[in-house]
Amino acid sequence: MEKNCITVVKVGGAVVEDSSRLSELLDNFCKIEGRKLLVHGGGRSATKIAAALGIDSRMVNGRRVTDAEMLRVVTMVYGGLVNKNIVAQLQTRGGNALGLTGADMDVVRSHKREVKDVDYGFVGDVDTVDGSRLADLIESGVVPVMAPLTHDGKGNILNTNADTIASETAKALSAYYDVTLVYAFEKAGVLADSDDEGSVIRCLDKEKFEKYVADGTIAGGMLPKLENAFAAIKAGVKRVAITKDTDLEVRCGTMIE
Ligand code: ADP
Repeated sequence: MEKNCITVVKVGGAVVEDSSRLSELLDNFCKIEGRKLLVHGGGRSATKIAAALGIDSRMVNGRRVTDAEMLRVVTMVYGGLVNKNIVAQLQTRGGNALGLTGADMDVVRSHKREVKDVDYGFVGDVDTVDGSRLADLIESGVVPVMAPLTHDGKGNILNTNADTIASETAKALSAYYDVTLVYAFEKAGVLADSDDEGSVIRCLDKEKFEKYVADGTIAGGMLPKLENAFAAIKAGVKRVAITKDTDLEVRCGTMIE
């Protein structure tokens, strides 16, 4: 039987900080036909609020270290401020949004990352996403808006990478839907030349990806994003697009199928 289509959109930290860009993105998100789900980041907002509270943000290899104080901040900022702001804005556009952390309806379970070289603190690696519960919500007309927070089933909230939540959610939903995963961020797509927005690599496969990683074209935050993208495709997600956050036009960015 043919499955219905769904678009899972992940928006990065930069856009949630900029109200006019966020507004443009949400306008475009609402124009996407059919079923949809939004996952958001919020790292920059957390850094700002933490600084206002006198709490330092500590980063290692570009990733946040979430100590007990920072966990309180990200829980407030991601689960509260950022999530509810997006939900309220979607309500003005006719989308019946529902904000969720992974703890809500037990939708995303994780375990605290084991300490190897670096102790990232209260960071969760995803174990399960309840695609069936999400599908029930979606089929009742709700647009889930997921914050980058999960829980371990023992009462602890854990900070979890939003790109990973998006790919794990897309994977779980692929049992029920034909899933398109869109990573929306500040650039036009995966670029062959980081200074040239016109150099978007239109199609990416594993072989090309490995070549671009080896020669340094793909680096930094783009690396885990694309690893998540390939993992999603392998697990049954139909296509992944990496595209501009104010545009969301799948065909204009980088496509992985
Ligand atoms: P997000 O905005 O979704 O949080 P990240 O900051 O984690 O995204 O990762 C995206 C970043 O990866 C870009 O802003 C860019 O600085 C970097 N990057 C590295 N290589 C590339 C590339 N080849 N094309 C586009 N961006 C790249």
